[in-house]
Amino acid sequence: MELTRHNPEEQEVTRSVLSQGCVSASAITSIETCEAKAYLEYEEGWEKVSKSGGLKTGLLMHDGQEMYLNGHNESAVINSLEQEAKDSGYDEDELFLPKLRAYIKGYYERWETEDAETISNGATEFSNKYDLEGTEVAFNFELDGITFSGRIDAVLYDREDDCMIMMEHKNLSPLSVSSKDLEDSTSLFWKSLVLNNQVTIYTTFLAMQYKRPVKLWYDVVQTSPATKPKMKPGKTVNKVKQPGERETLDEFEERLTNQYRDQDKPKYMRKMIPILEDKRKERMQEILSIASKAQGMAYLANPIRNTTSCKDYGGCAFFSVCIGDENIYDNPKFDKKKHFKKENENEHPF
Ligand code: SF4
Repeated sequence: MELTRHNPEEQEVTRSVLSQGCVSASAITSIETCEAKAYLEYEEGWEKVSKSGGLKTGLLMHDGQEMYLNGHNESAVINSLEQEAKDSGYDEDELFLPKLRAYIKGYYERWETEDAETISNGATEFSNKYDLEGTEVAFNFELDGITFSGRIDAVLYDREDDCMIMMEHKNLSPLSVSSKDLEDSTSLFWKSLVLNNQVTIYTTFLAMQYKRPVKLWYDVVQTSPATKPKMKPGKTVNKVKQPGERETLDEFEERLTNQYRDQDKPKYMRKMIPILEDKRKERMQEILSIASKAQGMAYLANPIRNTTSCKDYGGCAFFSVCIGDENIYDNPKFDKKKHFKKENENEHPF
């Protein structure tokens, strides 16, 4: 099969606006969580200005993993991420870069040799099992009047099985998935992926685009957001125990890097999961129904609050606004997403 190399620069992603029937997988998940939250995020277009540590790590790890798949070596990736972290001010946290470097070094240690034997990234002859068709593959497609959009971390072609692979990188803390669940392929974490909104929408695009069966390749890194430099045991001088000192940043980074390079305690897990067409289509029908109902809700501006979700994932970002303690307008904690901003001050919303 002749596959065209993908150029992410050529693709524009349609932004989610509920009343226009344009949705991403995150918008669908937000609607399922709480209509009022989805309305604020995907109809009015609000987002929190400050990013969580997990989100910052995820953004940079994705960039590193994209460079990795495109054949860049470990030092090139680390140099690029260090620059990106400095430009974005993410390095204000002195542990941010030591942790990021440890995750990347462990990733190369775990996957580089294996991937070199199985993945061709276009720099070499296509003779391996998987051909990398593209990274950050942007798409839009329409189904029953709803426009879906997204960006797939990587798309590969499986030459042996003649099918397409959606590769998704996830950088998850132990709070999101325990090591036990990560290692157990029968755990709810892995089993529930066939119902996942992102997996369903992205694999529907691949099935429509390439007219071939689709597999999901889920690539998980378990991060360590709570890990900090440890206290070292104090020495005994003249039979008197001295207080211990805290690890230096270099010692901390070395210890964490060794942990991430230690293959006996896996921090990196991948699973290839075939996507069954009838199950995917069944879930896609449900997603279409969720999107259509949300379109009507947003058009009429009558979202309903789901108060059982307020405490999820560390608490809803809009809680103080939702209960009336804060106003979202002129609030420095919130800003409108770029595509929701007016082009000029004289432009009036209708
Ligand atoms: S605070 Fe609760 S009810 Fe309000 S938007 Fe958030 S999840 Fe919905």
